[in-house]
Amino acid sequence: MKYVQVKCKRCGDIVNIPIDDEILSRAEKSPSGLTGVSVIHGDHIVLAYVDSHGNIRSIEVVDAVKRTISYTRMKRIPIPKDKTEGLPSLDLLSPIEWRILAFCDGKRSIGEIADLVGMHYFDVKLILEKLYQKGYIKEIRTVLS
Ligand SMILES: [Zn+2]
Repeated sequence: MKYVQVKCKRCGDIVNIPIDDEILSRAEKSPSGLTGVSVIHGDHIVLAYVDSHGNIRSIEVVDAVKRTISYTRMKRIPIPKDKTEGLPSLDLLSPIEWRILAFCDGKRSIGEIADLVGMHYFDVKLILEKLYQKGYIKEIRTVLS
């Protein structure tokens, strides 16, 4: 595991962004060429967008949100389209839609994504339904965990 150090825009401390092969391959497959990495930093969360070479292309800081629902055995997992599957232009996405999409890896559930980006479950669910309707998400799969 390699770490890239960046300065936190919120508190000014150094943040270590972990970068491994899985992250690089996720960025490689992602339509935007970037993938989101989330690091908890005190009461806030640093979101780093990493390209397939392990370079950090942008940083966002969001407030951590307390988990509002308990996890059930049913998980809903958004499956993003990859680069080869043809999707609408990423320029049409709002910053928040773009953020959520960058954290979809086909394995994380909506609840896990919500925790990573510091948003409420139902807000993330709503955005994912929009992304699905607009054709950025292939399906939202329900699985038993
Ligand atoms: Zn910080």
